[in-house]
Amino acid sequence: MNRYPRVIIDLHKVEMNTKLLVEKCSSNNLSIMGVTKAFCAEPRVVEAMVRGGISYIADSRIDNIKKVAEYEVPKVLLRLPMKSEIEDLVRMVDISLNSEIETIRAIDVAAGKLERVHKIILMVELGDLREGILPEDLRTVVDEVVKLDNIRLAGVGVNLTCYGGVIPSEDNLGELLKLAEVIKKEYGINLEIISGGNSSSLYLIDEGRMPEGINNLRLGEAILLGRETAYGERVEGASSDSYVLEAEIIELKSKPSIPTGEIGMDAFGNKPQFEDRGVRRRAILAVGRQDIDPDGLIPRDPNITVIGASSDHLIMDVEESENNYEIGDILSFDLEYGALLKAMTSNYIGKDFIEK
Ligand SMILES: *Cc1c(COP(=O)(O)O)cnc(C)c1O
Repeated sequence: MNRYPRVIIDLHKVEMNTKLLVEKCSSNNLSIMGVTKAFCAEPRVVEAMVRGGISYIADSRIDNIKKVAEYEVPKVLLRLPMKSEIEDLVRMVDISLNSEIETIRAIDVAAGKLERVHKIILMVELGDLREGILPEDLRTVVDEVVKLDNIRLAGVGVNLTCYGGVIPSEDNLGELLKLAEVIKKEYGINLEIISGGNSSSLYLIDEGRMPEGINNLRLGEAILLGRETAYGERVEGASSDSYVLEAEIIELKSKPSIPTGEIGMDAFGNKPQFEDRGVRRRAILAVGRQDIDPDGLIPRDPNITVIGASSDHLIMDVEESENNYEIGDILSFDLEYGALLKAMTSNYIGKDFIEK
């Protein structure tokens, strides 16, 4: 008997999406870091990405990277390292993204003790206001970095469309290239990686506007959900349904669409609002906010909608469905990024795989 709720992951689709993007990028001289954080670096999915041809495995958490230590693909830590995790970093990770010289110095010391050289990519702030060194401060940092024996400056990178929603362009990526040029001229360092962002940078390739010299992208969502993230468009030829969530109906009743009684707060401290649509057929599913983001669920039955969720319950309006649902039936959903992230992180959701 299957266990519910569960996510079913189609490994063949993940591999095919990876292949498609690897080809698209490599024909423009870009390598791909396959970003594995949204699925907690579940080894079977990482393996599908490796088969698809990624050049690096990249994750924001060392705990995830540990799960895939055995793969002979360089590992990249995407989130700036914590000072408290530096020994693990040096042991488990080949390249990390950095913006703080204090942390880089600590990595140098730890790498020295372990007799290793750790590679870093310096992140530059180019408008989105998440991590990154301000361009005017980059030289000061590089001055210091080149003095460290156990650190190798492997590249520069930028992260966009994450906090500030800033879209990659010839301007901001051109700025990154100029800074790489400065490092080459003034320090004689030929950077191996010039990392021009995440799934939001793909549209520049399609429009033939990716500045020459950008030679790497870090791709998560585009591989997993077949979506670029600057404008939310489908990646042509990629599958958007590699993941499906299944959850089970535990109650089915016709109820009014407006609660009875004085309305206070819901379970999460918000004051809910309701539209009176009369008596409607509703289904309750055994899955909730602890496992998913209700706003990121797309029901495969086009005639049903998510109307709300508490920690453990998902409430659906199934009035207009052509299916005659019964207790114990399973409903299927496609997942957006936030829902995928939560579902893969939840211990209460089973993970099953389709190989072909
Ligand atoms: C998560 C992350 C990515 C991947 O972003 P997608 O939009 O999923 O492609 C790339 N770079 C960094 C630094 C990240 O944290």
